[in-house]
Amino acid sequence: MRKVGLIGGMSWHSTVEYYRLINDVVSTELGGHHSARLVLESLDFDQVRALQLAEDWDGAGRLLADAGRRLCAAGADTVLICTNLMHKVAPAVEDAIDVPLLHIGDAVAAQARDQGIDTVGLLGTAWVMREAFYADRLARHGVRTVSPDEADRGLVDRVVFDELTQGVVCDASRAEYVRVIESLAAAGAQAVVLACTEIGLLVRPEDSPIPLIDSAHAHAEAAARFALDRVLTA
Ligand code: GLU
Repeated sequence: MRKVGLIGGMSWHSTVEYYRLINDVVSTELGGHHSARLVLESLDFDQVRALQLAEDWDGAGRLLADAGRRLCAAGADTVLICTNLMHKVAPAVEDAIDVPLLHIGDAVAAQARDQGIDTVGLLGTAWVMREAFYADRLARHGVRTVSPDEADRGLVDRVVFDELTQGVVCDASRAEYVRVIESLAAAGAQAVVLACTEIGLLVRPEDSPIPLIDSAHAHAEAAARFALDRVLTA
C-alpha cells in the first residue's frame, strides 16, 4: 500500500476526520485488520491563522512547503493539504515535493461530475468564496461555481473561524448556513460544496435542501484510492 502524507492541523478538528475517513475506506476495501499507511505533519493552527490575517501567503507557502518536505523525507508517496483555503499556496508545496499533491479541488470536482452536477454553490472561508484560485480549479473540470453575497460570505467565514475551527458546533449557525444554502440553490446551484473541511461537522446531508459535496470526504476518499491503487489493481 502506498503511504499517504497529510499536512494537517488546519484545524485539527477536521484532520481527525481525514484520519478516520481514510482508514475507513482502506479497512472496508481490504477487510480484516488492514489500516492506512499514513504520516501526519500537524501544524499549529494559531501560526497559520496569523499568516492568513497578515495576508502573508509567501510565509504560509514556506511553512506548508517545509511540512511537505518532511512528509517526503518520512516516505510519503503523496501529499495532501487538509484544508481548502490553504490550497491558495498549493503551488509552493508542489514545487517543494517530489511526489504528487492530491488537490482538494480535483477531488471535489470529480465527485460533482460523477453525480452529473455542473453548477455548485461554495461555502467556505472568505478567500475560497471570493477569490479565483478555488473556483478556477473546479472550472478546469467543467464545474461552475456560485458564491453567497458579501454579507453571507462574512457570516459563513465568521462561523468557520469563531466556531468550527475551535471545535464549537452551534444550532443557530446551522440554521443560518441552511438559509445560505437555500439562496445558493435559488441562484442555480445543483449541489453545495462544503469547501471548508470543518463544515461537515455542522451541516449534515439531512439538513440541506440540495445535495452536499463534503470536501474533506471527497479528499480523504481520493487519498485512500491513491493508497490502494496498486493493491486493488494487482
Ligand atoms: N479548514 C478550513 C478550510 O478547509 C479553514 C481553515 C484554514 O484556514 O485552513 O478551508
